[in-house]
Amino acid sequence: MTEPRARDDLAAIRPPHAGKQVLKVVRQAEALRRLILRHRAAGAVIGFVPTMGSLHEGHLQLVRRAIRENDVTVASIFVNPLQFGPGEDFDAYPRTPANDRSRLRREGVHYSFEPGREFYPVGFQTLVSVRDLSRPLCGPFRPGHFDGVATVVTKLLLAALPDCLYLGQKDYQQAMLLRRLVRDLNLGLRLVVCPTVRESDGLAMSSRNAYLTPEERERAPEFARALRATAKAIRSGEIREASEARRRIRQALRHPSWRLQYADVLQAETLAEVSPLRGRLVVAAAVYLGRTRLIDNVLVRAPGTGKKGTK
Ligand code: AMP
Repeated sequence: MTEPRARDDLAAIRPPHAGKQVLKVVRQAEALRRLILRHRAAGAVIGFVPTMGSLHEGHLQLVRRAIRENDVTVASIFVNPLQFGPGEDFDAYPRTPANDRSRLRREGVHYSFEPGREFYPVGFQTLVSVRDLSRPLCGPFRPGHFDGVATVVTKLLLAALPDCLYLGQKDYQQAMLLRRLVRDLNLGLRLVVCPTVRESDGLAMSSRNAYLTPEERERAPEFARALRATAKAIRSGEIREASEARRRIRQALRHPSWRLQYADVLQAETLAEVSPLRGRLVVAAAVYLGRTRLIDNVLVRAPGTGKKGTK
């Protein structure tokens, strides 16, 4: 498969689009598509960063990378009802549109795509489903969530028509699933997965961190520490089985403020089970801290499984 064009390869032959541009808010998919088709016809390379808003440094890292690598950058802000289950926090999800827009403007984003609920037409019934990658980790605890993600991202891609799609490692299962989707549907996109941005104490940045009480916020870094310590024990060969890793994480989060939903160690790309642990792995978990659900993950390579010996 040929990699789509990177900005540098084309810099010499394209007219410049990157100059100062004021952020334009677009609400209709068709309007965005028309605008982007014009840029593409003029040779522009398009970068796209999908978000649910309530933007923080984690999002902005994706935005900055997109701006660096493309002529035109589109960010979307859409709290996607299809990926929330009944009883989940769709209504409570933090919404800060004015603040988000001023941040996108400051970064130099060209278009903020902000569809309303009519993004799903009346009678909507089409779902995109990435079968196996939806099954492990968050899958059993959030039925329908990944179909909601795959469906909305497909719709967003069809509106923004990007060359490059920017996602965060923070939502690791989502990123792997969307990589599969891009391949399976021959979207011909370059997918860039950016490292998780963390607070100085290690807590992964998340819009949902706003739900934490001050006491919970103080305890929250224990989560990342537990995953990091487990990854270290895998790297050193001390932990050789996922079951032992699970036990270690559960033990580290034994304070009653924590409720572990799942913890697992899986093959990093396919999210398949591996026993004994070998090759590139992801240590991933979801926990409740009080009423707030947090997810995090760490990538690690098991010892004695250099590039040659792994698949
Ligand atoms: P969300 O608004 O939570 O749907 O996230 C939008 C994009 O930002 C997704 O690709 C996330 O993985 C990414 N993202 C969210 N938090 C972080 C973070 N702390 N570090 C890196 N990327 C992040």
